[in-house]
Amino acid sequence: MFEAISAAAVAPAPPAFQSPVEFDADLISRLSRNGPRYTSYPTADRFTESFGYRDFLRAVADVRTRGAARPLSLYLHIPFCDTVCYYCACNKIVTKRRDKAATYLGYLKREIEMQGRLFAGINEVEQLHFGGGTPTYLSDAQMDDLMAHLHRCFRFAPDDAGEYSIEIDPRTVSAERVHSLRRQGFNRLSIGVQDFDPDVQRAVNRIQPEAQTRDVIDAARAAGFRSVSIDLIYGLPKQTPATMRTTLDKVIAAQPDRIAVYHYAHLPQVFKPQRRIVEADMPDSDTKLAMLQLCIERLTAAGYVYIGMDHFARPDDDLAVAQRQGRLHRNFQGYSTHADTDLVACGVSAISAVGATYSQNVKTLDAYYDALDRHELPVARGTRLSLDDALRRSVIQKLMCQFELSIAAIELAFPIAFASYFERELAQLAELERDGLVQIEDDWITVTHKGRLLIRNVCMVFDRHLAGRGTATHSKTV
Ligand code: SF4
Repeated sequence: MFEAISAAAVAPAPPAFQSPVEFDADLISRLSRNGPRYTSYPTADRFTESFGYRDFLRAVADVRTRGAARPLSLYLHIPFCDTVCYYCACNKIVTKRRDKAATYLGYLKREIEMQGRLFAGINEVEQLHFGGGTPTYLSDAQMDDLMAHLHRCFRFAPDDAGEYSIEIDPRTVSAERVHSLRRQGFNRLSIGVQDFDPDVQRAVNRIQPEAQTRDVIDAARAAGFRSVSIDLIYGLPKQTPATMRTTLDKVIAAQPDRIAVYHYAHLPQVFKPQRRIVEADMPDSDTKLAMLQLCIERLTAAGYVYIGMDHFARPDDDLAVAQRQGRLHRNFQGYSTHADTDLVACGVSAISAVGATYSQNVKTLDAYYDALDRHELPVARGTRLSLDDALRRSVIQKLMCQFELSIAAIELAFPIAFASYFERELAQLAELERDGLVQIEDDWITVTHKGRLLIRNVCMVFDRHLAGRGTATHSKTV
């Protein structure tokens, strides 16, 4: 049976670092349900195949015609991995055949070149992110080639003004490679750790010795990376509050700038690798909640600020500063300090956000190569936002990033009277207010400290596309 860790058992954080998030086990158990993570609104499961390559071209043309060019954010998807981690829910291809990556790289460069031409003259890149799969599946020489190609096709903001990040699997890089990545133009590293406990690592088929991770972090500091972020997961097989505590202590000792603690969503019916996880090894929901509580308490006591969803950052990190100044943004790469960028995403399954549209690339290598062989961008589906979508996206974005919403600001930006337009939603919010998640005033909606962990529940109230559709493929909100 889950026993709440009493507040008295945890050393209080210094006042300057007090994080405004409150853990309420009863509330979470009662209200947690499946729901979107809102990296986009409408969410990707609402994209349709009636939106294709030509609609994407029209969106770029609109951006150009309106003269509303914004800085760019680039995302590159490298789908290959050496081995499979059993908890994985990513779009990846597990293979030891490196020649597959060489072929992919050739096509990826073609797509980048086409996008570079489309955005010629309006293409200053302020943000670059490499995700996967395992981006460092590419060799050092391949990465050199790819980065040089990107710099030929796009103009980049200088190193101190841009956020250039890559996801690192410490099992695939040496200290020397980390220095190479810095020279190639990356200034932020996101390191997948998940858990340091050897039993947990065995249970998920991701054996990653602690020393290997520490070496990568040390190399990143020595190479001059501006920010190092560590990803953890709670809810994995064989995890207990005791193993979690040890992992957290080790992570805190490494002093990363950001820490993400993701909830493991066990959906074996949707994600095949998860069928290899032994069900009997899974922690029950009370244990998972105890681990979440532990994460929040240990990290905030160590001085990290709760940013939202699964993210924590040091108070002097750009994300924490941006949140204090009301400049925090959220897109497919999670929280970001770069608001209002158009996002151009290249590679299989990657999702772009240009103007008032979202578009997603095809998911298989064959379809990707076929489209590029026809000299077409490999767009498979997407959506064009209606005015209502744009309004709701703005509301959800504000709630996710700032935990508050100025009703007057929304009425200034959109031609609506908030109280009548959102009459139904306000009635639903009133129920969440009774539960203590939000506070509703004439001009403001504020998410309370204990509502912050359930922010997805609050946002779901404003999601018009959820009505009448299932949420079974989404993860639990907490
Ligand atoms: S978790 Fe990452 S490294 Fe592991 S299989 Fe999935 S994409 Fe590859």
